[in-house]
Amino acid sequence: MSAFGTGPHDGGCTCRHVRYRMSTNPMFVHCCHCRWCQRESGASFALNAMIETDRMSMLHGDVDLVHTPSNSGKGQKIARCPRCRVALWSHYAGAGDAVRFVRVGTLDAPDRLPPDIHIFTSSKQPWVVLPPGAPAVPEYYVAAEHWPQASLERRAVLLAAKAAREAGRAQ
Ligand SMILES: [Zn+2]
Ligand SMILES: [Zn+2]
Repeated sequence: MSAFGTGPHDGGCTCRHVRYRMSTNPMFVHCCHCRWCQRESGASFALNAMIETDRMSMLHGDVDLVHTPSNSGKGQKIARCPRCRVALWSHYAGAGDAVRFVRVGTLDAPDRLPPDIHIFTSSKQPWVVLPPGAPAVPEYYVAAEHWPQASLERRAVLLAAKAAREAGRAQ
């Protein structure tokens, strides 16, 4: 991703009520070929940039969080423009509210964030041909095997914060 700069990356919805900023590059970019992403996007895959929520800010507007079923069965919250209803990012149960999966297509310059990995290629539409050598897995993967070290360090900070929250809740 370094070839594409470090951010910030601005984006928004189609009616321009919502404008947001990612202050840095994301940790990792998923191109997901699962059937759920195909249905939710109406297309052949979803391109999601994973970034810490505290690295994003709203430049204008606000979002509605729409509770939506997910492949895991635990559900997701999709942030949509309250006016034009375009989906901007999701929160999944695993990482919770601390991480956003930003729809790369809502960025002003989506070309700057190409996929780091293709996932759920077992349900990839056959006409989608991946570039030779592109990292790809049939379903999901282990982060330590694919993420760059700097992103793993950011992930470790998130996991520690999550563990601390859960420990606090258990007391
Ligand atoms: Zn809108
Ligand atoms: Zn998916």
